[in-house]
Amino acid sequence: MARWAMAHPCRMQSIEPNVRARKFSLLVGRTACQCCQALIEVGALWLDEFEDLDGQAMDPGGAATLSYMEWLEAKPLAACQGRLPGLRMASTRMSGTTYLANHCLICGSVQGAPFVHGPDGPFWPDADESLAAGIRKFDFAVPLSAVASISQATWMDRVG
Ligand SMILES: [Zn+2]
Repeated sequence: MARWAMAHPCRMQSIEPNVRARKFSLLVGRTACQCCQALIEVGALWLDEFEDLDGQAMDPGGAATLSYMEWLEAKPLAACQGRLPGLRMASTRMSGTTYLANHCLICGSVQGAPFVHGPDGPFWPDADESLAAGIRKFDFAVPLSAVASISQATWMDRVG
């Protein structure tokens, strides 16, 4: 039986991950909280290489960030939260879905993915070099399975 099923015995519905990786990294950037304007750290998951299980990626051999993560295995999630406690599942009214979101540690508000991954956010795929340079990368030798959107961009080659 799959590991998630043992971790979540109450869930009857089977989860089909669409992305899998042998290891992952956490990108940490800074932004102003959407609610209280405090300068906070926000994170996004980064994969140097990954298995694209549903053929979604533009460049399956390249690096990618994950957004709108509807499900993440417990072990990589715990690893992320050790570095970034504000990263946890959130149900957002705007999108009507539950996904892994950054929370402000000052006021507790959700920093929605449209904002964090949007044009003014730190992880926008077209972010210029200076923006990408402000991002720190933390590597975890932890395998990962997830249900998420895969984003890829050329600036990602310069993160390292
Ligand atoms: Zn706040």
